Amino acid sequence: MADNIRVTVWHEFRHEKTSAAVRAIYPDGMHNAIATALRDAGGMTVRTATLDEPEHGLSADVLNNTDVLTWWGHMAHQEVRDDIVERVRQRVWAGMGLLVLHSGHFSKIFKTLMGTSCDLKWRDADNREIIWFTAPGHPIVQGLADHIIIPREEMYGEHFDIPEPDETVMISSFSGGEVFRSGVTYRRGAGKIFYFRPGHEMYPAYHQKEVLHIIANAVRWAAPAAGSRVQTYGKHQPL
Ligand code: ZN
Repeated sequence: MADNIRVTVWHEFRHEKTSAAVRAIYPDGMHNAIATALRDAGGMTVRTATLDEPEHGLSADVLNNTDVLTWWGHMAHQEVRDDIVERVRQRVWAGMGLLVLHSGHFSKIFKTLMGTSCDLKWRDADNREIIWFTAPGHPIVQGLADHIIIPREEMYGEHFDIPEPDETVMISSFSGGEVFRSGVTYRRGAGKIFYFRPGHEMYPAYHQKEVLHIIANAVRWAAPAAGSRVQTYGKHQPL
């Protein structure tokens, strides 16, 4: 793990601009709630980037200086430029960590890295969510007991159309009876990916300390190992 992890918190940042209810929960935007928590966690240099910035705030220079990228999108997935999705994908393959949050399950970057529809069941109706940890000792749940409770959240239910995860770190149950694989890991190329379910815009999940603790743990887990190098490919001479 690097001593100082360079994090870019990417956010679509549209709901806060169009909904007073969302703005009341996240006056500075979800990205700033997440970024502030990561700065407070220590050992990280954190910047934010949003959809409406030039190149969505994800220039080649920004991405080349990002160890871990977090991604929240929902209403404007289709507005994310394909060439920038490709730029992010190349960086993941080269070792950049990626945290995909909540409705980011339908983002272009997550779908292209998974190769499946990433579809799921949902119900936005004030559900209680219990996130159970199914990988004891995993770095992403370090410092927590065996579950956390989110009093009010949107429901996501199985089947979640993802490839079989490398690790299923968490499973959620909801007050409606549904279950969901709410924390799963993958490797794509040299990059580590963590999908983490909570974070509907109408509820304050990114103000809940356990949720933010998990995101900080996941950033540390996904950061490329110090000294890791880009691989070489192509025609090769015998050693
Ligand atoms: Zn949602």
